[in-house]
Amino acid sequence: MREKKARVNKNVKVDPVKNFKKWKKRYDKTKKQTTRPKKKREWEVERENIKKLVDKYSEINPKEAVKFSDFPLSKNTLKGLLEAQYRQPTEIQRHTIGFALQGKDVLGAAKTGSGKTLAFLIPVLECLYRHQWTAVDGLGALIISPTRELAYQTFEVLRKVGKNHEFSAGLVIGGKDLNDESVKIHRTNIVICTPGRLLQHMDENSSFSASDLHMLVLDEADRILDMGFADTLNAIIENLPKSRQTLLFSATQTKSVKDLARLSLKDPEYVWVHEKAKFSTPATLEQSYVVCELHQKVNVLFSFLRSHVQKKIIVFFACCKEVQYLFRVFCRMRPGISVLALHGKQPQLKRVDVYNDFVRKKAAVLFATDIAARGLDFPAVNWVLQFDCPEDANTYIHRVGRTARYKEGGEALLLLLPSEEQAMISQLQEKKVPLSKIQVNPDKLVSVQSKLEAFLAQEKEQKERAQRCFVSYLRSVYLMKNKDVFDVFQLQLPAYAMSLGLAMAPRVRFLDKAQKQQVGAAPETSATPDQDSDQELQSFKAQLGGERPSSQSEEEEEADVDEEENEGVPKGLLHSAEEDEDDDLKDLLMVKRRDVFNINDDEQDEEQDAKPKNKKESKMKEVKKVLKRNFKVNTKKVFTEDGEAVQEWPPLQRTPEDEDEDAGETSGIDVEAARERLRREDQEFDKKEYSKRVKEKHREKRLKEKAARREASKRAKEEKQKAAGGDDEDEDEEVVAYLSGADDEGFDPSTLPDPDKMRDSEDQDEDSSNGPELARSKRTRSSEDEDDGHGAVQRKKAKQLSSQAEPLDTGLSLAEDEELVLHLLGGRS
Ligand code: ADP
Ligand code: MG
Repeated sequence: MREKKARVNKNVKVDPVKNFKKWKKRYDKTKKQTTRPKKKREWEVERENIKKLVDKYSEINPKEAVKFSDFPLSKNTLKGLLEAQYRQPTEIQRHTIGFALQGKDVLGAAKTGSGKTLAFLIPVLECLYRHQWTAVDGLGALIISPTRELAYQTFEVLRKVGKNHEFSAGLVIGGKDLNDESVKIHRTNIVICTPGRLLQHMDENSSFSASDLHMLVLDEADRILDMGFADTLNAIIENLPKSRQTLLFSATQTKSVKDLARLSLKDPEYVWVHEKAKFSTPATLEQSYVVCELHQKVNVLFSFLRSHVQKKIIVFFACCKEVQYLFRVFCRMRPGISVLALHGKQPQLKRVDVYNDFVRKKAAVLFATDIAARGLDFPAVNWVLQFDCPEDANTYIHRVGRTARYKEGGEALLLLLPSEEQAMISQLQEKKVPLSKIQVNPDKLVSVQSKLEAFLAQEKEQKERAQRCFVSYLRSVYLMKNKDVFDVFQLQLPAYAMSLGLAMAPRVRFLDKAQKQQVGAAPETSATPDQDSDQELQSFKAQLGGERPSSQSEEEEEADVDEEENEGVPKGLLHSAEEDEDDDLKDLLMVKRRDVFNINDDEQDEEQDAKPKNKKESKMKEVKKVLKRNFKVNTKKVFTEDGEAVQEWPPLQRTPEDEDEDAGETSGIDVEAARERLRREDQEFDKKEYSKRVKEKHREKRLKEKAARREASKRAKEEKQKAAGGDDEDEDEEVVAYLSGADDEGFDPSTLPDPDKMRDSEDQDEDSSNGPELARSKRTRSSEDEDDGHGAVQRKKAKQLSSQAEPLDTGLSLAEDEELVLHLLGGRS
């Protein structure tokens, strides 16, 4: 009997699968009896939620999306939106969010103040959520803004709506310590930046990598894509993976195929929500213009402010020097409303202060250049006044767009010179801007000329500023491309100078020359043999004629230039204007001061009489002369218009109010000291720029050498592999690049395999057998990563590790495996 049994047993074929199944059944039964059903792990739940959301992407119908919760958005995003009081999507949000969630490239255009920011921030958050992005995954989304203030504002909105997510976000704009940013940036998931600063990181910061980037957003896209940023943007794009998703937003969207080709968009979705609208500006915006002479503009502005002291107003000017000068004198004149100024020559901290101040204030006027023209969402602005004619209709649309935002009302007033009226108005009409002509009541017009004259008589530094304001304004008009609107020769210069408080018009040499050439006179060669000036003039002319003076250095310089350097300058002429007064151009445009106040002794005359061989020499001479004077700091002479010294040391007492006005700048009224200080600032700036460029060159060289070494070692490895008949070429290639990179630099702990990433990779494998939709998106990510190497390196590392361990395939899921192991271990102990 026993024998028989044994025989039977021998004949039974043991099926390991069946056996295992039986065993598992038994195990499950005992497990059920002994343990309570275990909760799913957080990441598992999240993965299931993501899958459910992604499954709904194809069903999104913008017309039916009334609330944000009608979109398949993560709980964290919906919570953030609700907490920030955003419940219903605006039109542009309804029409773009769906496409963006589906991973499409989007070009979104909608009027100013219509909610474009959330239209890209929501997809950014969802994209990283979908990929279960963590701090160690580095940069996942990049948002580029044309100005620091706009980047800062977007950052604040992101912080608000994204606060329930765990992604890290960073603001990368100029004006802060680069090293400080560099330390943090490689752990930042969402970077909001200005183009110049981003490129600086790409070039100088070796730990910065954009190779895993999933999403690129260009806010104010047409501005980022225009000539001013062209080279910077091209260089940035070279550093980004091609497989990314790209979103472009603006109120005046680019339709240029060339621009879009630069960004390698893939079948983009064009969403123009207001394309068929009657007007291109908000319906709640009332717009008008007045025609007035140039010399009346300051009076009109002062009178306007006096009659709107309870309002919040932004006044746009053509250039920084105008803002600087008029801000100071308006503060002095006490128009009855607090006056603030925002322009690109301010230190960064001051800019942030001014921005926040203006956000908070209920009634105030902000004097600004076009750095405030785009995107800024100051709450409850009542008026936008354009003191100087905008460069084109698009700039007009963006400037007036600072008021009448998101269902609110607003008013806009444009001051036009008689010579500007016709061409500008027809341009605006063409762009569907509705505005009506109004008149200034002459009885209400207050003249401030005598007040300004008095200020200038008291303070020579102000006089200097007034002169700079005068020249800068003329230069900005002269450089404008559209000659139908801007004709510098139509301007009444003496009257304009007097309206600024100057006794007479400073002589502007570039205008003199241009005028002579215009009337066909032979160029002045003997009187002012100033070669550099001539060259500058020629180069301007070349540009005005549409040619660019070709030079490699120009291109190099452009990369260093932050957006603010471009303000007050026509877009087509950014190269020359970047240098502003900070370089030799200054001399070309320098005011020939007349000795109105009789303060300049022989030295001044000497200066004027001498015919310097070249500009550099004269500049040096001037500096030496100033140094020779050996003046003491804060020692000063004050003269009346008659040239009488009325007060010497100690300096005039300044009221605290005056101090306030000049906050952030040194006070002092010694004209030479002021001039010297300005010159020194310029020199220091140049020095810094120079050493920055040298550093860049060195770094470029190092990077090139490093790349060459990598390339060589990669090739060697490939050949070795081919000889060995290796079949996994792609992945090994990347590992080689990775390893050799580590060799070059010595041991770097950050190159160690990242446990989180490895888990990700394992999860990915698991996904491909489990969730169809999610697995697809994960697989897309993997294939996207092939271009850049980094993701593939991580995958490879995970694979290597798993193959070393040779895990037993139990046919269970990872979670069940873990349970089993724990159970077995528990049983043993
Ligand atoms: P744009 O970029 O189109 O000029 P913004 O994104 O700056 O406009 O938004 C303009 C204003 O509208 C902001 O104050 C913003 O808070 C508000 N806003 C945007 N979307 C919504 C929404 N869905 N619900 C309520 N307010 C919104
Ligand atoms: Mg915007």
